[in-house]
Amino acid sequence: MSDSHTEVQAHGALVTSSGEGSGVGAEKTLREIQQVLLCQRRLDALRRTALLDTPAEEAFDRLARLATRMINAPVGLVTLVDKDRQFFKSCVGLPPPWCDVRQTPLTHSFCMHVVATGEPLIIEDARLHPVLRENLAVDQLGVVAYAGMPLTTSEGEVIGTFCVLDTQPRVWTDDDLYVLNELATSVMTEIELRTRRALETQARAVEAARAEAEAARQRFALLAELSAVLAEGFDVRAMLARAARWVVPLVADGCMVELLERDGRLRRVAVVHRDAAEEARLRSLPESLALLEPEPKDASLVAGHVRLTGPEGACLRLPLTSHDRVLGVATFTTQPSRPLREVELSLAQEVARRMAMAIESARLYEEAHEAIQLRDRFLSIASHELRTPLTALRLQAQSLLRGMSQPVRPLAQGELTNKVRGISRQVERLGLLVDELLDISRLSEGHLSFHFEDVDLVDVVREVAARFREELAQAGNVLMMTGLDVSVVGRWNRLRLEQVVVNLLTNAIKYGRGRPISMEVRADVDRARLIVRDEGIGISPQDQARIFERFERAVSEQHYTGLGLGLWIVREIVRKLGGSISVNSMPGVGSAFLVELPLHPVPVSLLH
Ligand code: ADP
Repeated sequence: MSDSHTEVQAHGALVTSSGEGSGVGAEKTLREIQQVLLCQRRLDALRRTALLDTPAEEAFDRLARLATRMINAPVGLVTLVDKDRQFFKSCVGLPPPWCDVRQTPLTHSFCMHVVATGEPLIIEDARLHPVLRENLAVDQLGVVAYAGMPLTTSEGEVIGTFCVLDTQPRVWTDDDLYVLNELATSVMTEIELRTRRALETQARAVEAARAEAEAARQRFALLAELSAVLAEGFDVRAMLARAARWVVPLVADGCMVELLERDGRLRRVAVVHRDAAEEARLRSLPESLALLEPEPKDASLVAGHVRLTGPEGACLRLPLTSHDRVLGVATFTTQPSRPLREVELSLAQEVARRMAMAIESARLYEEAHEAIQLRDRFLSIASHELRTPLTALRLQAQSLLRGMSQPVRPLAQGELTNKVRGISRQVERLGLLVDELLDISRLSEGHLSFHFEDVDLVDVVREVAARFREELAQAGNVLMMTGLDVSVVGRWNRLRLEQVVVNLLTNAIKYGRGRPISMEVRADVDRARLIVRDEGIGISPQDQARIFERFERAVSEQHYTGLGLGLWIVREIVRKLGGSISVNSMPGVGSAFLVELPLHPVPVSLLH
């Protein structure tokens, strides 16, 4: 017989073998038992097993079955004693309803005495036991004989028992107790194994939670940092490049930012990749190549491209939008086979939102800056333009005054007329300048409105030409007119149409001094055309794109006066009339301005 068997036997004898002697009750009062059961360290050890209220498991049932078989007892239990109940992790042979409930109150517990003493409890006939005969298990579960071994953790805490029960009185043999003790050891080994595993899982969960909290902290820091980075200065490219650096590797392994330029193309402004070699390769690629992902570089296609997982890694393209306007695209990629997790996805969206906001404010700043520069330039040109006729006026008025106060040689009639004509020309010029200034503010605020009436374009051209006869002669321009034999009548506005012709003819005289000028009117089924041609200085191709804008003047010409407003006003009037204007010109050869107007009324909704 082994030592442990001897020990078990000794303990068994120590506690009780029948109803005689001191018995369990004599050794521990109920209050003491309660205190032991409630001991926090014991309960903590019990909780650590994570076995309370878990389903039955074969690993424990097998040991309980083995015990009932080898000891030949009807019931075998793995009992965990909680503070106010006992839970059966395994309950082989227990009758219903107990086998379903799998727990009883402590009023039905023999096992709590084992836990209280930490010793085996061996009962041959509980009905004769001074304490246990009162136990409700005797009546309700029919327990008569009981043999229970403590389940003690490696730290010495008794958490429950491994026990067998019989409904008959019986004498437990040494062999019975030996087997029970051996199997109890196996049960405890299994429990310790579970505990270790549960603790490991718990530790992993804690580590995961800690890592998640750290990631959340980093993400928060990233967004805060990103906002700061994006708020630094107004150089949008530098800002976005710095922001992309922050994104890698916290949000993705690669980040590319493209801006939508005025010409509708996406232009790359930042490329960052976790892998320096890959980043260098991407940077060295020509801009026209799609970088992180081969696909069309068209803003309308950017929004839909999302691949969150796949063997090539993830690729997420997010449009950078502000007030429903696409400003660019941010692309986030991961290395092969690494998916983009939910949290990274929302972070990427947050980053894109902040980038869009930064681009928008940088653009607004740029526009405001440009507007201020434009205003300053305009003010200086405008004051210069106004001063020129004023100076001429002053000189002419002074000379007139001098002439009139000359008693010796009074002014001849012709001389006087010339001087007054000069004054009147300057006054007219001043008036035109003021009109242009008024028009520009009306046009900018959308207040330039006029009524539509039947107007003959041929008539307008003829009349303007007649008005300019003198000026043309003075400038040495010969004016040829064609297509004036048939009326070309449309629903336009006479005064504004005159303004268009006057502006174009004035420019032709100004920039084509001494050279022939022609004005041609043509009409087909639904369009009227006016072409004003000169053989003057011409306009370079790059200037041609700008001259119809506000305050824009050709770079090539510096010694001609003007506000750079005439063509803009002409374009706006022509648009309001439902037509268009274009120029065909070659420097040194001359220019031809073509105005096209609808011959039939255009629905107001189609007018610009
Ligand atoms: P401006 O008062 O300066 O003439 P416009 O808006 O009428 O302003 O014209 C804009 C610019 O276009 C001019 O400054 C000039 O550079 C160019 N331009 C206009 N008409 C002609 C032309 N017939 N020949 C050459 N250049 C022209």
